Amino acid sequence: MRLSRVLTVALISLVAGILLSFPNLLHAAAITDYRPVSIPCRDARGALQLAIRSCLCDGIPHYLLVNPATLATTLEPVTATGPAPADAAQKLAASLLAALLQRTAAPPVSLQNHGITHATRPGAGKILTVDLCPSRRPMETGMFRALTDLARASGKPTPVAIAITGAWLASHPEELGWLKEQERRGLLAITWVNHSLTHRYDPAVPLAQNFLLMPGTDQQQEVLANEVKMLEQGLVPSPFFRFPGLVGDEKLVALLRRLSLIPLGADAWLAKGEIPYPGSIILVHGNGNEPPGISRLMPLITGTHPVSLIPLAEALTGPHQRPVELPAKPASLPAEPTPAPPLVQKNP
Ligand SMILES: [Zn+2]
Repeated sequence: MRLSRVLTVALISLVAGILLSFPNLLHAAAITDYRPVSIPCRDARGALQLAIRSCLCDGIPHYLLVNPATLATTLEPVTATGPAPADAAQKLAASLLAALLQRTAAPPVSLQNHGITHATRPGAGKILTVDLCPSRRPMETGMFRALTDLARASGKPTPVAIAITGAWLASHPEELGWLKEQERRGLLAITWVNHSLTHRYDPAVPLAQNFLLMPGTDQQQEVLANEVKMLEQGLVPSPFFRFPGLVGDEKLVALLRRLSLIPLGADAWLAKGEIPYPGSIILVHGNGNEPPGISRLMPLITGTHPVSLIPLAEALTGPHQRPVELPAKPASLPAEPTPAPPLVQKNP
């Protein structure tokens, strides 16, 4: 009897230990019936939201909501939302989300680095983006620890956008758990960016047939299945998407538009020697595959005068374009021509 009690206590301790080691297991939810939608609605507080996905979360109908004014995303039960107000269409058309979707879907589309590459809001702050492409190496924990040190010094969470792949997520559960813990403790304010499910790459192939442009790639599956992986781990995808290798084309950009996603580039890929300016979107790899970028970042985020980092969405609030129409049809329908005129990006 006593022995069985000891064994029971030992077993409970073991299970608790495993769960504490992998905190993301505690939040795992089954996401099924995942579909792109475009449904204006109201959240429980009465704020206008755009549902961009519907799904079952542990069997219960949910929406992935984007606040069109702030770009904040939440996963909410459908029962927690209400019908959109009468002026929803006008408000959506005039929103920050609509402006960014239109701006980034407009031609011309460049093969590399298409999309948002710089803040639109004037100011000295910079945006840090960290890519977690597939990797067998450990995460750049020292860099992330420096970001949490910044939070301790400033008294507020350090903003960082993390572009994550399903392949990295599946192979680094402990490091993912650590990142989520820093978020929970208020040390990191993470914008979770979809960076595709598998991030296929062949160094021997030209860019125009590489990454998501590789023949035989199910592009929509690469986008949506990664969102499912993220949600199953408790990460709520933002309305941003970073192309693997920053490589895309018109068809891919049109797909993102139909999925209500904003392509996210960068104008300061540190490992390539690009210098960050005020408003720059900095790119480094946090997956251990590009140490020179981390070496160049560390002096910027440590020492007595670290750079000012601002959240991605905040950097994009500012004067924007005239009202535009949001995509009204689900992404499974054929692409429609984009009528938007070209809009000039504010690069340094
Ligand atoms: Zn990547």
